[in-house]
Amino acid sequence: MEPFVHETRACRVIFGPGSRRLLPRELEPLGVGRALVLTTPEQAPLGQQVAGLLGDRSVGVYSKAAMHVPAEVARAAVAAAAELGADGCIAVGGGSTIGLAKAIALESGLPIIALPTTYAGSEMTPLYGITEAAHKKTGRDWRVAPRAVVYDPELTLTLPAGLSMTSGMNAMAHAAEALYAPDGNPVFSLMAEEGIRALAAALPHLRESPQDLDARGDALYGAWLCGTVLGNLQMGVHHKLCHTLGGSFNLPHAEVHTVILPYALAYNAAAAPQAMARIARALRRDAAPAGMRELGEALGVPRSLREIGMPADGLDRAADLVVASPYPNPRPIEREPIRALLQHAYDGLMPA
Ligand code: NAD
Repeated sequence: MEPFVHETRACRVIFGPGSRRLLPRELEPLGVGRALVLTTPEQAPLGQQVAGLLGDRSVGVYSKAAMHVPAEVARAAVAAAAELGADGCIAVGGGSTIGLAKAIALESGLPIIALPTTYAGSEMTPLYGITEAAHKKTGRDWRVAPRAVVYDPELTLTLPAGLSMTSGMNAMAHAAEALYAPDGNPVFSLMAEEGIRALAAALPHLRESPQDLDARGDALYGAWLCGTVLGNLQMGVHHKLCHTLGGSFNLPHAEVHTVILPYALAYNAAAAPQAMARIARALRRDAAPAGMRELGEALGVPRSLREIGMPADGLDRAADLVVASPYPNPRPIEREPIRALLQHAYDGLMPA
């Protein structure tokens, strides 16, 4: 057994169909009596429902959350929270909405309760990002991590089929990289493997029956585990590639994770054999990279960077950016193999 450090962070998690109705009782322990509910414009009606559950302990619904947390949206939300005298935020949505709550918390210290409606995992992390003039400034601060998370699978029933699949693959990517993280440990590895197992089992069911509440619950449980390891461990080449492609080429977040994952696993396969064995076991397949690719095929997700809008003439610049400031990774992040990986992913070839 290798030496390790494990730290447990305080976050209360409430899980179960209909658990959003338990939200009111979560306010008092956090001292919240004037909650501001946050959503995207599309999820505003859901925000109104949640505000309705809170009655006079809600000061309103702010429905302007947008992908990558534009700085002007963050500033306006901070001002709105102050004007309304909010003493806490309820983020109802995916990574974009939870990201907006984190931007408010960063400025004001207000506690966050999250009700996640995707599988992205931001609710379990201290990671934040704010985009100013096309540059996403990211950081890590446990003050922005939600203090309570209410996982109600009923809130994910409306998640479109395609986004359900890619969001689930996005979550599995966190767990896959946790299994070879330099600061990993046996407890987080258990969570990571179980997170991949739960999602790999649930997603094929959801593709057939998006309204299957049991499968929705299993997927959300997997997403919780995957988000937890994302929040606690350092990510590697996969996340570096995705942050570069998403940030510099504006590719859609969950799709870019989905396309890159089998290629990132192939890149690291020889350098991280134990992690690969655990990923393969969780997928119930023979090998991690091919198994992840096969799962993607079964789920009908995008397989190439080309089909999600990557310009062919951007591959060289992407490779340069990735090697310029690499993340820790079991195999060194080097220009030539990274460029080859990107070409493979662009063409959607079998990962090798
Ligand atoms: P998202 O929050 O951007 O949501 C995508 C779209 O789906 C939005 O229009 C939203 O309204 C809609 N939607 C979400 N849930 C729905 C539901 N249940 N039913 C119907 N529509 C629904 O998507 P995401 O993939 O969850 O988040 C992506 C963003 O989160 C990116 O900016 C990414 O960088 C960030 N992120 C941050 C972290 C972190 O730890 N800080 C982790 C993961 C993702």
